[in-house]
Order: sequence, then structure tokens, then C-alpha cells
Amino acid sequence: MMAESASMPVRATKRGDERTPLGGERDVLICGASFAGLAIARELAGSGADVLIVDRYEIGERQTSACGIPTEWLARLGLMEAERQRFDTLVLHTPHGTSRYRLPWTFSTFDYRELCQLLWRDCDATFETAKVNGRAGAADGDGRIAVDTDRGTITAPLVVDALGWRRVLASGDGYQPPDAPLSRGLEVHPHGSGEEMELWIDRRYVPAGYGWSFPAGDELRIGVGSFDPRFHVRQTTELLAEDLGQDRVRYQGNWIPHKLRRATEGGVFFAGDSAGHCLPLSAEGIRTALYFGIALGRELRAVVEGRQTRERAESKYASFNDSHEWKFRWMLRAQKLVPRVPPRILARLIKLLGNKRFVDWSFTHYLAIAPPELAGPAPASSADDQDRPDQQQDDAEDALGRERGLLQAEQA
Ligand SMILES: Cc1cc2nc3c(=O)[nH]c(=O)nc-3n(C[C@H](O)[C@H](O)[C@H](O)COP(=O)(O)OP(=O)(O)OC[C@H]3O[C@@H](n4cnc5c(N)ncnc54)[C@H](O)[C@@H]3O)c2cc1C
Repeated sequence: MMAESASMPVRATKRGDERTPLGGERDVLICGASFAGLAIARELAGSGADVLIVDRYEIGERQTSACGIPTEWLARLGLMEAERQRFDTLVLHTPHGTSRYRLPWTFSTFDYRELCQLLWRDCDATFETAKVNGRAGAADGDGRIAVDTDRGTITAPLVVDALGWRRVLASGDGYQPPDAPLSRGLEVHPHGSGEEMELWIDRRYVPAGYGWSFPAGDELRIGVGSFDPRFHVRQTTELLAEDLGQDRVRYQGNWIPHKLRRATEGGVFFAGDSAGHCLPLSAEGIRTALYFGIALGRELRAVVEGRQTRERAESKYASFNDSHEWKFRWMLRAQKLVPRVPPRILARLIKLLGNKRFVDWSFTHYLAIAPPELAGPAPASSADDQDRPDQQQDDAEDALGRERGLLQAEQA
């Protein structure tokens, strides 16, 4: 028997009598209260809209990842209290040697529960625990969408699916593992400490993918991610933990999308993993969930404040999403290519590419896929002298435009 059952997270979600029926109509219904859902709710704070956010668990109850993010994202969102450790170097192990990449920006690990609570502190929405089952029929004549939950049917003209890879509110497009473009990831969280953020590109752990160890204060997050959904990562996650002399406790894992999907469908908006916003190759999906969540939150805010129609929000958010498609495509190409390179050549390449100029160049472009310039203080707490959300959006779009121009120039 695994030791995990003794250390599974304590369930804090309301049960039995506490689960009173839920229904009625809201201005905005956000399904999913993790990174994407909370980022959207935060952008709607102070708008005066009646916003309901639902999740099957309490906010921050279920950690869904190793919780690594570029530090600047935490700083810009006022979330530094949740930071646990910071790294300026990425250590890459292969069977043929170790390389150290000194990054042009730092990466942080954070505490999931605390980060969610800090995001929630900036929201003025209502939260309820409820399991979302799917849509309850098509939109009515006024464009209201009904969502079926285990506590009743809730309707709203603006509905967001931030429920993760399952994309529960889509019209059933059959996206099921292991046939769908999904990676799988599993990690253990032993107590312990470390100084370095480490990755293993080693077929002993996974034929296509990588292993990692992310220290976070008094715990380590050790895991394996496979780009091939058919490869089971449990044994090799345990092998990696064993190789590092760490306990195999507190397991958590999930499917990770590696393909961008439509941002809107049947009147519903999608953000985060439900829209395939997790980056291929690195499987980094937190900052992108926040990034697209913020962009969507601003579009919805313009609707509830009467500055644009829902249809306009749909088309703007969809084109914002689609404008990133080429970047996701390139990352996916790299994800497919890396496992095909023979290990000895790959080790040599990793060493060669570790020179400062290349690392600065590539990691600056990588950060620009979802630049921290988009993030800012919570709208409800924005002072007059701070950047307005519209200005931040313009800054981020400028950054994207510059990035695209740069790459096109380089390709030419
Ligand atoms: C092992 C592992 C490690 C990872 N490490 C990192 C990392 O270090 N850095 C990084 O950037 N990314 C990492 N990722 C990817 C990252 O976790 C996701 O991309 C990110 O969590 C997506 O955020 P989200 O808000 O879209 O969805 P999620 O975080 O998956 O949140 C979905 C929410 O919806 C709720 N929900 C789901 N279904 C229902 C339902 N039917 N009814 C009600 N509620 C429901 C869930 O409870 C959850 O709160 C990792 C992934 C895995 C699997």
C-alpha cells in the first residue's frame, strides 16, 4: 500500500445539511476557483456586478501543481506573501552531465492555499462550493446560459469555464485522455529543503518529458511529466524521489493540456487549462491561466459596466486568444522535437545553449509569451496614479507586438 492515503489533503468542502440548494440568476457565473477563475473574479471587483464563483472544493483546498511561476508575476499581482523560494538558476540534468542556466529573470515557488486566498482577498464576488455537471440546455432567447450543478441550476448571461482540462461546459467535443493532446504529471511533496530548481531530461524517468524538483521552503515538489499521455508516471516519480533520497508522500497529479483550444464556444468563455492555455514543452500553466484570466476579466468588466456588448467581448477575447496560437504552436514543435534527439547529442546541445547570450534571448522570449506587464493591482484597489487596466492591456499588447516583430525580424 502507498503511504499517500494517510497524507491526502483534508477535505474542507461543505457536505450534507450545509449544502443548501443553489439557483437563480447572476450577472456573471465563474466555474472554477483556481488560478484562472480567481484572476477573472479579481478583475470584476468593484464593477458592481453580481458575480458568483463556484468550485467543488473550498478556495485553495486542492493544490494542483508544483506552483512555480516567474517572480514578477507574483510581484505585480501583490502576491509576494505567498512566495516560498526564489531561483535565479535552472539546473538541467541529463545522463551525460549537468548544465546550469543563469536566467535573465527569477522564478519562484509559492504556497497554493495562500496564493488563492490572497487573490480572493481582492475579489468581491460570492463563492459557493458546487460540482458543475455541465450546461443545462442551450442559451435562451436573451442569451442567458443555464449551468447544472449538484446544488441546482444557475443562470447568467456571462458564463466562464475555468474548470481545468475537462472543459466541462463545452458542447461535448470528446476530449478524453489518453487520445487527446494532454500530458500527464504527478508529483510527491516530501518535507525537506533544497537550494536549486532542478530538471531531469532522462529517459530513465520518462521517454518524452522531464522530471523536476522544486524546493518550496520546508517542502520539495518532486515529479515527472510525460508528453505522451500513455506513459504512466507513477513508478518513475517514485524512482526520482527515491534517487533523491526523499519520501514518497502527499501525491498530486493531473492531466495537462498541451494544445491551445477555442476561447469561446456556445456563448461560454474558457480560460486556463479549459482553453489549453498551459504552455507545451514547459507545462507552465499558472501564469498563462492568470494572464488569459485577467484579459477575459477585463472584457467581461467592460460588458457589465455597459461599455461593450457580450458579442464584442466574445470576439475580442477570441482574437486575443488566437493571437497567441503561433507561440503555442512553436512550443509544441519543440515539445515534439526534444524527445527525438539522441540523448548524447541533446546533452551536448543543452551545454552549448547554456551560454549567457542564448539563455537571455530564449528566456526573455519565453517570458514574453504571457508577459507580466499585463498584471497589475486589483481594480478595486487601483489608485488614480496607478496604471489603469486598459493601459496595462495596451502595454501587454505592445509587448506582444514587439515580440512578434522581433521574432519575424530574426526569422528573416
Ligand atoms: C503535477 C503538476 C505540476 C505542475 N506544476 C506547474 C508549475 O510548477 N508551474 C506552472 O505554471 N504550472 C504547473 N502545472 C500546470 C498547472 O497546474 C495548470 O496549468 C493550472 O493549474 C491551470 O489553472 P486553471 O485555473 O486553469 O485550472 P486548475 O488549477 O486545474 O483549476 C480548476 C478548478 O476547477 C475545479 N473543478 C474542476 N472540475 C470541477 C467541477 N466539475 N465542478 C466544480 N469545480 C471543478 C477544481 O477543483 C479547480 O479548483 C502543473 C501541473 C501538474 C499536473
